[in-house]
Amino acid sequence: MDNGMKPLAHTFEPYRIKVVEKIQRNSREDRVQHLRDAGYNVFKVPSAAIYVDLLTDSGTGAMSDMQWAALMTGDEAYAYSKSFAEFESCIREIFGYKHVIPTHQGRAAEGLLFATTLKEGSVVPNNIHFDTTRANVEHQGAIALDCIADAGLDPTLEAPFKGDMSLKKLATAFEKYGTERIPFVMITITNNSGGGQPVSLANVREVSDFCKKMGVPLIFDACRFAENAWFIQQREEGCAEKTIMEICNEMFALGEGCTMSAKKDGLVNIGGFLCLNDDTMAQNATNLLILREGFPTYGGLAGRDLAAVAQGLREVMDPDYLAYRIGQVARLGARLDELGVPYLRPTGGHAVYIDAMTALPHIPQSQFPAQVFTAALYLEGGVRGVEIGSLMFEHRDPDTGQMVHPAMELVRLAIPRRVYTHTQLDYVAESCARVMEMGERLRGLEVTWEPPSLRHFTAQLQPVGGGRMVAEA
Ligand SMILES: *Cc1c(COP(=O)(O)O)cnc(C)c1O
Repeated sequence: MDNGMKPLAHTFEPYRIKVVEKIQRNSREDRVQHLRDAGYNVFKVPSAAIYVDLLTDSGTGAMSDMQWAALMTGDEAYAYSKSFAEFESCIREIFGYKHVIPTHQGRAAEGLLFATTLKEGSVVPNNIHFDTTRANVEHQGAIALDCIADAGLDPTLEAPFKGDMSLKKLATAFEKYGTERIPFVMITITNNSGGGQPVSLANVREVSDFCKKMGVPLIFDACRFAENAWFIQQREEGCAEKTIMEICNEMFALGEGCTMSAKKDGLVNIGGFLCLNDDTMAQNATNLLILREGFPTYGGLAGRDLAAVAQGLREVMDPDYLAYRIGQVARLGARLDELGVPYLRPTGGHAVYIDAMTALPHIPQSQFPAQVFTAALYLEGGVRGVEIGSLMFEHRDPDTGQMVHPAMELVRLAIPRRVYTHTQLDYVAESCARVMEMGERLRGLEVTWEPPSLRHFTAQLQPVGGGRMVAEA
């Protein structure tokens, strides 16, 4: 493979385990019952009945001893606490922006920015908007426009920076809507909705130059900024000698601010922030922050939470941690390759996406192949992933009345940070292979109840026509 990617030679865990949480074993019969009770929707399965929980990497990571210590020494003063000072200076060092506004999580930062800058008919280009980001843009009556380069839409292409934005699509957006309607451009690092694929520094520079020419600020959706910086260091021409801090400084200097969910690369269970250079934008966001989240130096968090974020941000920059983190995801991909389980290529920073249409070709999209795979993976291994396919995205075309299915039927296995060992992920790969072995014995699913919107969270299903999901051999 000669595409600028280095092999991941070692994925040694750069920590010792100091506290453990018991995983309760259960029987296959228990899991059959849990699945039935949950209407074949694993969101509803109690977490105590799950062995390896790969539903999300958001807020599910393990904190370090230093972070737990920071919780004890956190300063709970209402205004200008010591913990806020640490939080602010740590974020300034990495991101370099003038104003640092704490929020309780990422979407709160988005909400403050969007509510104070967007109006009916505004347009926000992004490589691909994350789902809550899109929902928050649309909530203001604005248009969330995806401008991902075509390479990022090809699930089989092995390329180093499939999160890159298309300059051509971006220029077309400015021609079509005009600069007056575009208050800023966003770029998501890594590109979560496009398989956790990284964005190159070269691409950010091009987008930044273009934005400067148009007189419009560039704002990062920075949730997985450290993972993205690691990919740049490993894969991008001329970046191997730079430190993660240098890459982050260089990258963020190309923009004017960021939104951040610290539940990802902040290595905490709750927290986020908004950074801005522009005084007026920051003042408007802060006014709304006081109304909705809290005083500007805690923004919906406890002082100890701010202290844990500051410590988490220091730890996430460690190259040993990043090599292990991204190596662990790549290693799961390599195991799946050995076992012949198809997935979206290459593996991203935080997750592996199983290609369920290829894995279970006998199940039509109308019978939710990715949901069948997700349910069967729980049944076989007690492993919880999440469907990203027809259950999430199927919709009726308003003009023709026909059902429109998404291009891909995926099962996302998101890896929590510092939580599972390589052995446990080997077990996940083997469980996936067992689902494939069940093959044509697996039957499709049908929806028996659904809410009016965002149905994948709460929809209830059953095997088509009733009965068991796995036909007798
Ligand atoms: C998680 C996430 C968000 C939202 O953050 P929350 O902390 O869940 O509110 C926004 N953008 C991206 C890319 C994300 O992954």
